[in-house]
Amino acid sequence: MADPTALELRTRQVGPWSMNTYALVCPATGQSVLIDPGDDPLTLTEMITGTIPVAILLTHTHGDHIGALDEMRTQLNVPVAVFDGPHAGGIALDAQIPLRDGDLVSVGQHALRVYHAPGHIPDQVCFYLEGDTRAIVGDTIFDGGPGKTWAAEDFQQTLRTLRDVVLPWPDDTVCYPGHGPSFRLGDRRARIEAFLARDHGDFFGDAAWEMT
Ligand SMILES: [Zn+2]
Repeated sequence: MADPTALELRTRQVGPWSMNTYALVCPATGQSVLIDPGDDPLTLTEMITGTIPVAILLTHTHGDHIGALDEMRTQLNVPVAVFDGPHAGGIALDAQIPLRDGDLVSVGQHALRVYHAPGHIPDQVCFYLEGDTRAIVGDTIFDGGPGKTWAAEDFQQTLRTLRDVVLPWPDDTVCYPGHGPSFRLGDRRARIEAFLARDHGDFFGDAAWEMT
C-alpha cells in the first residue's frame, strides 16, 4: 500500500520537446517544489494549485527545461535551486540556492538528495527522494539510453556518471527522466552494464543501450 505521508509526484509534459515537468508535494504540510519549468506557465501553475511552493528546482539548464523559468520565478516568488557550476551557453542564472553534490533540499517534512551527474551537460543533477525509491534524473538517463552528448569527452563523462552515480542506486529505484516514461532501474541494469562494457571509441551524440 502506498505510504500516505510520502511525497506526491505530479507530472506534466510541456513544450515542443515533450519535456517532463515534475512537482513534488508534501501531503502533511502542502509544501511543494516545481522541477524544470520548461514551457507552458498555465499548465505549470495548474499543477501546483493548492500547494505552497517553496522553490523551483532545475535538473540542468538546457533551454527546453528552463523556458518558463523567468515567468514562474516571478509568479511564485520562490528561490531557484540549480547546480553551482557553469550553465548552458554560459548563461547567468542568479540562483539563490546553489547546489552541490550531496546537498539536501527540503520539501515540507521530506528531503531530496542532490547527485551531481555531469556528461549531458556539466550542471546536470539528479534529485533522489530521501527514504523513498524515486529519483528525478533530468536528462542523465532515459528508458532507452543516456542523455545526448556533443563531444567525446562528455560521452566519456556520461559513462563515468552512469557507473559511479546511477548504478550504485538500488534496483527498486524508479527513475523519472526529463523526456519519456519512468522506469525501474533494476529492469535496465543489465542493459546499462552491457553498454558500459562495450568500447565506444570516440563516440558522442544520441546513444541507445543496444547500439554497438
Ligand atoms: Zn538537456
